[in-house]
Amino acid sequence: MEFSKITEAFEKLDQTQKTLEKTDILAELFEESGEQLPQVVLMCTGTPFPAWKDLDLGVSSKTLVKIISKATGRSEKEVEKEWKEQGDLGLAAQTMVEKKTQQRLMSQEITVQKTFERMQKVAEMESEGLNSSVNQDKKQKELADLISSSEPREAKYLARIIINNLRLGVGEGTIRDALSEAFFDGKHFEDIQKAYDFSNDFAEVAKACREGLEQVNSLELELYRPVKSMLAKNVDTIEEGFEEVGEPASINYKYDGMRAQIHVKEGEVKVFTRRLDDVTEQFPDVVEAVEENIESDNCILDTEIVGYDPEDGGMIPFQRLSKRIKRKYDIQKLKEEIPVEVRPFDLIYLDEPILQRPYSERWEKLKSVVNEQEEEMKLVDNDITLEAERVQEMQQASLSDGHEGIMMKNLEAEYKPGNRVGYMVKLKPVMETLDLAIVGAKWSEGRRSNWLGRLFLGCYDKENNEYLEVGKMATGLTDEQFQEITEKLKPLITNEEGRKVDVRPEVIVEAEYEEIQESPTYSSGYALRFPRMKQFREDKEKADSLEKIKGLYQDQN
Ligand code: AMP
Repeated sequence: MEFSKITEAFEKLDQTQKTLEKTDILAELFEESGEQLPQVVLMCTGTPFPAWKDLDLGVSSKTLVKIISKATGRSEKEVEKEWKEQGDLGLAAQTMVEKKTQQRLMSQEITVQKTFERMQKVAEMESEGLNSSVNQDKKQKELADLISSSEPREAKYLARIIINNLRLGVGEGTIRDALSEAFFDGKHFEDIQKAYDFSNDFAEVAKACREGLEQVNSLELELYRPVKSMLAKNVDTIEEGFEEVGEPASINYKYDGMRAQIHVKEGEVKVFTRRLDDVTEQFPDVVEAVEENIESDNCILDTEIVGYDPEDGGMIPFQRLSKRIKRKYDIQKLKEEIPVEVRPFDLIYLDEPILQRPYSERWEKLKSVVNEQEEEMKLVDNDITLEAERVQEMQQASLSDGHEGIMMKNLEAEYKPGNRVGYMVKLKPVMETLDLAIVGAKWSEGRRSNWLGRLFLGCYDKENNEYLEVGKMATGLTDEQFQEITEKLKPLITNEEGRKVDVRPEVIVEAEYEEIQESPTYSSGYALRFPRMKQFREDKEKADSLEKIKGLYQDQN
């Protein structure tokens, strides 16, 4: 098949914004593609490589300028000028090819097959890490030959594919619908979607569509072919979380690390990022942790890799850990500077694909294969509950330990690759924090009886120049902080009645909370739900105002 067929379809796609029309155009192209269908479908996704394959051409816009110059015999300056004027490198390539003075290298038309093979070759050079200038030249020459033998309109789209910027407004859903229209009269799009979810490869799906529904349904999750990660929805409150995932739910700590899909095939480990890049080489310690502590030779784990500080053992933020993802040298050294722990939270393959089984079952299986070590491999902290209080407690504990919050998960649900379905939700403290004064406290009981435990928080009412209560806080504090607070508050006590004390509003704390509610209980008329201590605000003298709280309350409704 000639590449010009693809070009014609792309031009039509460029001329409409309507999804239905785009679907029709693609369906027609797919029907005409014959044996070439898998390659044509991939080209329509904007890259000639399936999503799961860690392959790309590795060509930047700057390099493409060089390639166009080589292909057309025009200077790089000229290409750059054209690029600036037209604002698009595809259009610049088209114009340059139109003006081309050089002899066309090949007299016959370029085919889909040839284009594909050439791009494959270049990507393989790239993945072998051939960075020497000789190889850069080779790479550029391959692509320059391709552009040089193309028609101007073809050059436009080739250029855009080369820098992965096709912009046809064609999403995965449109391709799925077009395959359904082309091969199944618009039916079975759900089967096609599923086949794509499992294989993460439109070339495979397209091939199967040509062969029939049975083939489509036979596509499965495979080891070493990473699937997209299931994504989480955001919820603002615990109640909303339960509504989304059902009761009871599995509650997990949410760690601030890096999502990793770990494949073990016949005992060999590969590590993929959320973007499906293969980072096995960058994480020899993860490979080792899996080899030693996962009791299965054929499985796929969904995990969070968390970095910690070797000095104090504290968690480090993702930004620092991300250094390890990019680094290709000094890996051993970096491994010691930024050690990691693997925290598995799901299992989607165990000797066979299990992603359609309920989460509770996958979790049990996960538990059975993870041999938990103190540090390098440990299941995520979790519990199953239907009590909002328990969820709240875990949220506090997770945040106090320096993690990001919690995830709530549906126990019955399957694993949906790439989907932000509500099978798992993340609950993060998203509200703006408030700086509030401690206006009262209560002596604790038992072991902590000489500490002021429960703390009453107040906001400042400018109009009457007084402090009004907005809630009480008992969590989020470490023992040291309780002690510190007691020391700070003791000299400020103005009145004592039973265990309750009033204090001058001089200690200001920054409080996080889930929500502001109207409340008759507190003198301000508002109550913070689940307030927790973030930090002391020694730099502040006055608490936030009642107006601010009113404003935030109105904003959230
Ligand atoms: P976000 O990146 O804010 O959309 O949150 C979702 C991400 O949280 C996932 O992609 C994981 O990388 C990460 N995560 C951390 N802990 C967990 C957990 N226990 N379960 C699922 N995802 C988690």
